[in-house]
Amino acid sequence: MSAPEGILVLASRREVRRRVFDVLDSAACRPIHSARDTQHAAILLEGRPPLKLIVALLDADPDAARECCAKLRALPAGAGVPLIVIVDDETPLDVSQLPDGVDAWLPAQHIESDLLDRWRRLPASMPAAPAPSPGAADKALRTLLHIVNSHGSDATRDVTARRVFDEMGLDYLAVWPKRGDGVDFQTPLLRLWNGVEPAWPAVDDFVLLHRVLAGETILWRNQARQRAPDDPLLPQLELAGLVGLPLLDERREVLGAVLAGARRGFDDMAIAEPLLRCAALRFAHGLELARTREQGRAEGLLDALTGLPNRLLFADRLETILREAVRNGECFAVLFVDLDHFKAVNDNHGHAAGDQVLQEVTRRLRGSVRASDTVARYAGDEFTVVLRHIVKNDDVQRVVEKILQAVGEPLQLDSGVRVATGVSIGVSFFPDDAPDADTLIKHADEAMYAAKHQGRNTFRVYEVSPEYAREHGMALRSRLRHALGNGELRVVYQPQVETQSEDIMGMEALVRWEHPELGLISPAVFVPLAEETGLIVPIGEWVLRTACRQAQEWEARYALRLRIGVNLSAVQLMEPKLPATVFRALQETGLDPTLLELEVTESISIKAAPNLVENLQALHRLGCRIAIDDFGTGAASLDYLRKLPADRIKVDQSFVRNIGVDPDDEAIVRATIEMAHRLNRAVVAEGVETEQHLAFLREQGCDELQGYLFSRPLAVAAFERLLAERQQALGEQRPRAQPAAVMAHAGAVKDSTMGASA
Ligand code: C2E
Ligand code: MG
Ligand code: MG
Repeated sequence: MSAPEGILVLASRREVRRRVFDVLDSAACRPIHSARDTQHAAILLEGRPPLKLIVALLDADPDAARECCAKLRALPAGAGVPLIVIVDDETPLDVSQLPDGVDAWLPAQHIESDLLDRWRRLPASMPAAPAPSPGAADKALRTLLHIVNSHGSDATRDVTARRVFDEMGLDYLAVWPKRGDGVDFQTPLLRLWNGVEPAWPAVDDFVLLHRVLAGETILWRNQARQRAPDDPLLPQLELAGLVGLPLLDERREVLGAVLAGARRGFDDMAIAEPLLRCAALRFAHGLELARTREQGRAEGLLDALTGLPNRLLFADRLETILREAVRNGECFAVLFVDLDHFKAVNDNHGHAAGDQVLQEVTRRLRGSVRASDTVARYAGDEFTVVLRHIVKNDDVQRVVEKILQAVGEPLQLDSGVRVATGVSIGVSFFPDDAPDADTLIKHADEAMYAAKHQGRNTFRVYEVSPEYAREHGMALRSRLRHALGNGELRVVYQPQVETQSEDIMGMEALVRWEHPELGLISPAVFVPLAEETGLIVPIGEWVLRTACRQAQEWEARYALRLRIGVNLSAVQLMEPKLPATVFRALQETGLDPTLLELEVTESISIKAAPNLVENLQALHRLGCRIAIDDFGTGAASLDYLRKLPADRIKVDQSFVRNIGVDPDDEAIVRATIEMAHRLNRAVVAEGVETEQHLAFLREQGCDELQGYLFSRPLAVAAFERLLAERQQALGEQRPRAQPAAVMAHAGAVKDSTMGASA
């Protein structure tokens, strides 16, 4: 029988799955299979060796909980596997009624702090949790960082050192700063040594330190002394294993070095290396923060009351983040946060009270975001926040809701008076809403006012107003003529996922216009203008060719048979030479025609569009798929299905948005899916934004999904990262093997590394 391998995380709530995943993932426990229910788990685990551990969120109903446990035990990979149960905070299970065979339990709020520990404390007969424990080490590292930042006393250092060393199997750990270009430092920022204080060698002789400060990474499991015979520290401390990592800032410049050594050598570099890399990232971040603070204080860039970056420093930071994002094809969000009723606090309780509120709000804001995010005091009672590495709307919504909740807690003033606080938040996205910092802030500010309008302590995402679009229509029309030639058009790609597995099946190509002055213009605004002028034909052809080339490149690299959806406008569809154009694009790029799906919006009237039916039939004969876009919005739905060779229909976002809100729209979605299936057509739902949408569409048997819940439209680099993460989450072995909830995994992997990737 094969050795136990892998962990099953079973929870109906995605948020819980993700948190458990993050904890296990950061402890390098792999592979992790994460499933919604036992049926999903059975699919994931088919043919797999027995598990090492099962972590399950159980239903509050004791019978359902018992049944779930029994099903887990009945899985071939699940018999006799240690089972830890998470008890939900929202609908708690009565723990006195836990089913038989549960080995340990913990409340959901303690997943991060206790899960690994609980596993480690299970009886010895069970497969062991990884040791040394990275979860505990992670805690120790946080303490270490605290010492670095606060220059803690030697006494606290000693205590921490002992704990850290035990947990990580280290004997020596030092963090060295680098100041300016030279090395005009004599002492490390932090030095922990498991032994009697030796006479430390002079810094200048410390060869390895200089190598790491020059950017080199050292990973020596043992025999370090033989590898660097000229270094004085290794023999003096009798170190056999050494890890040296440069500390890098956002621009990848060296800020310092972390050195870690072990007398016995490192048993397992696979554990030590990621831990120390994680530590290095944290140290680097701490150093960078300390450095900016120092600079900021010197140059008047920090707000005196809250210690946050002020408007000036924020602008500077935002520019840096923007440049990075352009280079990496990343999305980020800008939040404009405005305190509600702050004036009343000042007026009724005095300025000291106002200051106290601002300080407390600062603390809560900071506590709600990741270390790599930026919080600034923009002015008076206004704060700005940048949330980096955004893939899904969800990423922002989670943080925004956390902020609303944290700041919404009443606050006790020094005078003993309790005051209610709240904020209104506006959100804008880069690059969707603007290409430059000023406009991003402006848009977030506008959205914030919309939120205030809506009734405070809430948030709004920026939307372009139709008036604005009309006003700029004229100017845009003449400018659009040059957009293609000037290279101002881009294509972004939005994943489509399979409903059950949430695995990626394809993507839709969506065009963007980066106007040099006005910023990013939505296709909803400029495609109609391009249609009026006939420019849509060359533009559409360019999008088609770009998308096919990209899809073929990904196919060559990942062999996932991803389908690429390309939108065709009415004008293109009436062109008699459309099939020839598509044929040429396929030929030139080498893309398999069956991977190309052409989207036709339902708002085009079949009668009024000559050639439409013929063109689509010709495209179908080429082997291309046809999808009917925005299904349900026009009056022609049935006519379309009867007359056009459609393979799939895309349920329009306006219906999806109303799931859980409007029973009529729910009925339309239900009926559409049923009808499509009866006619042998597959269904894709667009604009899937919430778990509620997902649950409904899953229940109705919708085939595929597209929407912010899974991913926003992504630039090429970001899309590739998603594919790479998917591959990693699947353990890199098979191109498309088990239908695991890989998109969820990829997202979780991203989350767990995000704080560190600053
Ligand atoms: P569409 O074909 O229905 O594309 C889906 C639109 O929904 C995209 O907007 C996408 O970004 C947006 N979307 C995706 N998920 C969500 C979500 O969860 N919530 C919300 N609120 N929106 C979501 P986008 O990119 O602005 O495109 C708008 C329309 O412009 C497209 O609608 C399509 O009709 C047209 N279009 C886009 N690219 C092209 C193109 O290359 N050629 C032509 N002819 N039309 C295009
Ligand atoms: Mg479309
Ligand atoms: Mg659509």
